[in-house]
Amino acid sequence: MNPSNRKVTVIGAGVIGMATAVHLQRDGHDVTVIDRDAPGQGCSFGNAGILAPSYCVPMSSPGTAWHVPGWLLDPLGPLSIRWRDFPSLIPWFLRFLRAGTASRAEASSKILRDLHINCLTDFQDLFASIGAADLIKPSGCLYAYESQKSLAAHAADWDLSKRRGVRLEMLDGNALHEMEPGLAPSYVAGVFLPDDGQVTSPLAIVEALADHFCNNGGTILRANIQDMDVGTDGPRCLNTDTGSHDLDIVVIAAGAFSGSFAKRLGSPVPLVGERGYHITLPEPGVTVRTPVMHGEGKYVLTPMEMGLRIAGTAEFAALDAPTKYDRARVLLKHVRRMLPGVNTDGYSEWMGHRPTLPDGLPVIAQSPNFPTTFFAFGHSHAGLMGSVITGRTIADLVAMRTPALDVAPFRVNRF
Ligand SMILES: Cc1cc2nc3c(=O)[nH]c(=O)nc-3n(C[C@H](O)[C@H](O)[C@H](O)COP(=O)(O)OP(=O)(O)OC[C@H]3O[C@@H](n4cnc5c(N)ncnc54)[C@H](O)[C@@H]3O)c2cc1C
Repeated sequence: MNPSNRKVTVIGAGVIGMATAVHLQRDGHDVTVIDRDAPGQGCSFGNAGILAPSYCVPMSSPGTAWHVPGWLLDPLGPLSIRWRDFPSLIPWFLRFLRAGTASRAEASSKILRDLHINCLTDFQDLFASIGAADLIKPSGCLYAYESQKSLAAHAADWDLSKRRGVRLEMLDGNALHEMEPGLAPSYVAGVFLPDDGQVTSPLAIVEALADHFCNNGGTILRANIQDMDVGTDGPRCLNTDTGSHDLDIVVIAAGAFSGSFAKRLGSPVPLVGERGYHITLPEPGVTVRTPVMHGEGKYVLTPMEMGLRIAGTAEFAALDAPTKYDRARVLLKHVRRMLPGVNTDGYSEWMGHRPTLPDGLPVIAQSPNFPTTFFAFGHSHAGLMGSVITGRTIADLVAMRTPALDVAPFRVNRF
């Protein structure tokens, strides 16, 4: 196939789809993005905005299984399951636990570090080139602990980070409160990651990519894709609620909803929609200078242009289960405890489906079945930070260039 000037369709206008579309457009392709919503209204709308070159501790690691019962029993804990949906999720959880052996977690941490190590500079370069440099802040990221015991419980994670070459500074209580004076006195220790950063609005990131893409001749179609016609040579046409759309090259970047497309294309994957929540406080009345991660609770406070966002928690349920905002309100309780005197008036709440595979790695790949089909999904907790490298790598694969990133760990048929 001629690798340049192709007609490329990207399914999904989240941060992954839009970053991919911009890179494909820069290679001279005629690119169309299709989404049932406006750009950035899926999971990419409400994330915590963290760009973490330091991100290398896999979700499943040797200690994870021991924490799970305690997390599930704690109504304020970081994990919950809708028990009605649990039977169908058992195979996923078994794979998740298998991914957490010492040797597999060590291997995953290297892959995660290589994937994210340049994410902040990649964002700075890309957004400077599209006139939106002010959306990116090299803020660092702070982890705060309420006891030496809870810091010690995470010592293995910090050792792993150090082995991966992550720069970090251990802080005592005084240094922690000097950095974030608004934190409750009960916080006694911290870890600062100076090389991390943040975006000031996850939605504005996707919108800036979409504006740049459209201003340069790209097309975004609003349509709900209901089915795909697949011939012996590959996918031929999308059937949508607004008509059909012929395909030449297609990139599946539909986030947590990518599983049905992958299956239709002969590459089934164990993808779940891992629910995460946020609340955003428009006028918190307490200053938070850097993103602050609660060391145990797995939620993060990020100062953003629209206020203070508190994001996190993991809830496992069927993709189409109704949204319940109890988990978001747990975050409200946490922030009141963490920042005494915080003003929560006028808060908004949100839920998004993280596209999560049991080994915690995304799929960034060409289809083994059809050379005209590419996959870019499954970025789980790290899709914002992984978006630029994913877009660049998919553009390389479409152009038949050898990507700088080793794509072997991200193949679609690894399960
Ligand atoms: C609470 C929370 C905090 C997070 N914090 C961070 C963070 O700090 N840093 C970080 O890097 N990541 C973070 N993430 C993860 C990150 O947000 C996701 O990994 C990322 O947004 C996934 O992007 P995506 O483009 O793959 O999916 P999405 O943004 O969900 O985009 C997929 C798009 O596909 C469209 N689509 C799906 N099916 C169809 C169809 N049939 N027809 C038409 N359109 C369709 C959807 O409408 C959607 O717009 C967080 C996630 C959550 C939930």
